[in-house]
Amino acid sequence: MTKPEALPITVRGVTKTYGSIHALDDVSLDVKSGEFLTLLGPSGSGKTTLLMVLAGFTRPDCGSLRFGDHEMIRTAPHLRGVGMVFQNYALFPHMTVAGNVGYPLRLRKMSKGEAKDRIDRALELVQLEGYGDRGIEQLSGGQKQRVALARSIVFEPRILLMDEPLSALDKKLRDRMQIELRHLHEKLGMTTVYVTHDQREALTMSDRIAVVNHGKIMQLAEPQHLYDRPENKFVADFIGDSSFLPVARDGSGVKFGDMAVQMDGAVPQSDTLLLMVRPERAQLLTGEVPADMNVFDAKVIELVYQGESYLLYATLTDGSEIAVRGAIREGTFAALPRAGDSVKLGLHRVDTVVIADGGS
Ligand code: ADP
Ligand code: MG
Repeated sequence: MTKPEALPITVRGVTKTYGSIHALDDVSLDVKSGEFLTLLGPSGSGKTTLLMVLAGFTRPDCGSLRFGDHEMIRTAPHLRGVGMVFQNYALFPHMTVAGNVGYPLRLRKMSKGEAKDRIDRALELVQLEGYGDRGIEQLSGGQKQRVALARSIVFEPRILLMDEPLSALDKKLRDRMQIELRHLHEKLGMTTVYVTHDQREALTMSDRIAVVNHGKIMQLAEPQHLYDRPENKFVADFIGDSSFLPVARDGSGVKFGDMAVQMDGAVPQSDTLLLMVRPERAQLLTGEVPADMNVFDAKVIELVYQGESYLLYATLTDGSEIAVRGAIREGTFAALPRAGDSVKLGLHRVDTVVIADGGS
C-alpha cells in the first residue's frame, strides 16, 4: 500500500447542541499532518459527536472544519476521503471478508483487478492474509475488528477516524491490538483521530491526547506532559491516580499548612490550588531525609498488598488522605508499617506539582 499524503485537520469554534445539552461547546482543535491524536474523556463528554462532525455524519450548529486548505463542513461524508472504524465493527454479516473489505472500492467503482490487489494488501496489513473467502460469522471478535480496520484503510484515506475500536475485545487482545494499531499508523502515516475513554490506552497509543469533558477540550498535550503536568484537577484525576492536598499561594510558591512547599514548576493562575501527589512518586521514608524533599507526617490507615507493589493509604495532620505506592521485593512486605503506625512520607521537589482545582 502506498503512503497516502496526510492532511492536517483544523477545527474552529464548533458547537453542537441537542436541546439544552452542549455535546460540543465551542471546540477548536488542530490535528497535525500524520499525527495520532486521541480524544480521551468520560462517557457523554462529546467524543463521538466530534468524530461524527469530522466524518460528516453530524452537522454542527456553527464553526468550521478544514482538511488541509479545504473547508469541509458542507462536504458529504463519502466525499471527505475519511476512513472510519466503529466500536461495533459495523460489518455486513452476509458478505465474505473480502466482500466487506472491498465495499468502499465498489462504492468508488474501482475495477475488479485493482480492487483485488488492494483488498489483499489491506488484509496483509492487518495480518489476515488468506482470509478473504471466509464468512464474517466464522471470525473471532479480534478478527472482525481487523476486517473493519482493513475496510477503513483499503481506499487509502488521508484521514482515519476510530471510535473506541477495541472496547469490545478482552484485555490481552486489546493490549496487543493497541501496539499493532500503533505500528500500522507508523507504516501508513495517515492523520488519525482515535476515541477512547481508557486513559492507559490513550497513553500507550497517542502522539498527543486531547482530554474532553462536557463538550470542551480541557487540555491537549503529549502523553508524558499530560501525566506529569496536568493543568487542572479533572485532567489529573482522569489520567492516572492521584491524591490532592489543599495548598495556599505564598509569594511565588505555595504553603501546605505552615510548610513552605519546595517545587520547580510554576504555580498556576487560580484561586483554588491543589498539590497533586501521584502514588508512585510519593515515598515512604525510613532513613535519612534528602534535602530536596517535602516531608509530611502521616498516620497509616491501611496497607494493601497488590502483588508487584503495595499501596499505603495514610492521613496527614490536616486530615487529607494520601496514597503511596512502592515496589515489593521478596520478604519486604512484612516489614512495612500497618494501620495506626506513624510514618513520614516524602515527595521530591521535581515530583511536586501544583495544579488548579476545577475542570469537572
Ligand atoms: P461520548 O462519545 O463522549 O460518550 P457523545 O458525543 O456520544 O459522548 O455525547 C455527548 C452528549 O450529547 C451526551 O450528553 C449525549 O447524550 C448527547 N447526544 C449525542 N448524540 C445525541 C443525539 N443524537 N440526540 C440527543 N443527544 C445526543
Ligand atoms: Mg462515544
